Amino acid sequence: MSSYQCPVCGYLFDELRGHPREGFPAGTPWESVPDDWACPDCGVREKVDFEPTAVCSGGGHVTCAGQLTPPGR
Ligand SMILES: [Zn+2]
Repeated sequence: MSSYQCPVCGYLFDELRGHPREGFPAGTPWESVPDDWACPDCGVREKVDFEPTAVCSGGGHVTCAGQLTPPGR
């Protein structure tokens, strides 16, 4: 599970929590969110503009979504 952040307002979509108000129950995978879904907070950014956030369990040198997380950060 990972989360995605709006680059404009910082709204965070967490797959674990979903967004029930928007019709996405907890555990909704990002792939299930329609591409034309707009940010519920600012409404100016759509799904494609959201940026994945590095949320990796285990911490340090964990490959997550193709990104390498430097240890100690
Ligand atoms: Zn936003």
